[in-house]
Amino acid sequence: MYPTFTFYSKVHIIKNQRYCECGIIHNYRRIFEKKDLKQVIFKPMTEITCTPCKDKFKLER
Ligand SMILES: [Zn+2]
Repeated sequence: MYPTFTFYSKVHIIKNQRYCECGIIHNYRRIFEKKDLKQVIFKPMTEITCTPCKDKFKLER
């Protein structure tokens, strides 16, 4: 299972506190609130729909 968040209907893999694997910033300061932490959902790789995220994830591991 991987930490993910959904952005524009695509499921991205979260890389660190600020970025997902494809470089999108998921942790904007203005939305960094309790409710947004719930957007981080652990999902299996088969449910990741962002191709750049999947590709980078595989390259780095
Ligand atoms: Zn992505």
